[in-house]
Amino acid sequence: MIERKGYRCFDLKDGYADLDLGKTMAELIQYVNDAIEVMMMMERGRIMMKFADLVDKHVEELAVLDTIDAGKLFSMGKERDIPGAAHTLRYYAGAADKIHGETLKMSRELQAYTLREPIGVVGHIIPWNFPSTMFFLKVSPALAAGCTMIVKPAEQTPLSALYYAHLAKLAGIPDGVLNVITGFGPTAGAAICSHMDIDKVSFTGSTEVGRKVMQAAATSNLKSVSLELGGKSPLIIFDDADVDKAVDLALLGILYNKAKLLLQSFTYIQTSSRVYVQEGIYDEFVKKSVEKAKTWVVGDPFDPSVKQGPQVDKKQFEKILSYIEHGKREGATLLTGGKPSGEKGYYIEPTIFTDVKEDMLIGKDEIFGPVMSLMKFKTVKEAIERANKTRYGLAAGIVTKDLDLANTVSRSIRAGVIWINCYFAFDRDCPFGGYKMSGFGRDNGLHALENYLQVKSVVTPIYNSPW
Ligand code: ADP
Repeated sequence: MIERKGYRCFDLKDGYADLDLGKTMAELIQYVNDAIEVMMMMERGRIMMKFADLVDKHVEELAVLDTIDAGKLFSMGKERDIPGAAHTLRYYAGAADKIHGETLKMSRELQAYTLREPIGVVGHIIPWNFPSTMFFLKVSPALAAGCTMIVKPAEQTPLSALYYAHLAKLAGIPDGVLNVITGFGPTAGAAICSHMDIDKVSFTGSTEVGRKVMQAAATSNLKSVSLELGGKSPLIIFDDADVDKAVDLALLGILYNKAKLLLQSFTYIQTSSRVYVQEGIYDEFVKKSVEKAKTWVVGDPFDPSVKQGPQVDKKQFEKILSYIEHGKREGATLLTGGKPSGEKGYYIEPTIFTDVKEDMLIGKDEIFGPVMSLMKFKTVKEAIERANKTRYGLAAGIVTKDLDLANTVSRSIRAGVIWINCYFAFDRDCPFGGYKMSGFGRDNGLHALENYLQVKSVVTPIYNSPW
């Protein structure tokens, strides 16, 4: 299904690889010339800028596709996800001609320089929660680095990825550089992970599948892997917080809100799924959270008054309801929600539990649904210990007016991103990725380029060369 032959690389790497495959010199030179033509880094950036303009031009159609596929709010796609995707492309387009190595003085006789070369053919495997955002979070730095790639969107949400492949062609990205294959994880996804000619897999999804991706990479060609996996992120709210603002932030992490953020969605990145509230404001916080969650309008994602659309599919819908049942059985107190919303479709009421413990299923598993667990704490030490009591380490939040406290707690929590007095706030420049079983490697920012580059050292004598 995936053939290396015929893939044109954005750099010289494949030109040299083909020498081993026995191309004639004339063919090789033609091939390398073709590669050089697109290798120019400024040209790469220019094509990516054009691609971004086309994404902007088709924002409405793309937002419709993501709404149909994922149940995302149309307004979110149109106002945030798709323009954000174009912004990501432009960010990395600007980086395409700024990738360079270093010079090293090795000894009195030797010097070296490093080249940062594209890692080669990349497989991107992405989930359904942010179809457009994820597509460009992966593809943009890989294009800037000069890689060729295959993207496998989630089986639930392939439509926008196919449209992006079409736009890539219109933008002038050479055939074979950016390829989209649709299919299921255990077949199409697994084929990428175990393919001998794929040099790198960049995966976002569950920890369970991340483990399989690594296993397949290890037992095939030891391809490089970066993983952005599950989370069960804590939000710690201290007594000095403004309760109304803190309630908004907590609900934002788990539900949809139109707060001032660069990237957000009705779907649930498990950011504030464990909300720790200090005892002094706990009762007020619980009361206000429940009142607010009850005002949430759940329904048709094309309706502008709706705040929360349906779950992506039946499987996810049933999984969330089953977690809610577990919560009740394990002794957590259900304060609001806890059942389907309406008679038809995969809608679930915003759900809040209290009396949750970290060893309950709803306290430790990533639910990926509108389910929030509220927990009371007394001391800073207790908050840190309980926040870290998870196998994940994707993100965390802290709400306090005390900057010393915020900075101390930030350093004590093992997570890839800490939000102080804000939540789920992203920008292209800010690396995103996990500690512990939330994975390794970083998307976003210039750090993401490292996922798609190799470093080569070139060593040469300075004087007294034996040659
Ligand atoms: P989620 O829980 O968000 O659906 P998954 O980890 O199940 O996350 O899926 C994320 C992506 O991984 C999807 O594109 C899916 O098709 C793919 N996938 C699932 N199983 C495998 C597998 N065994 N090998 C590679 N990719 C897989």
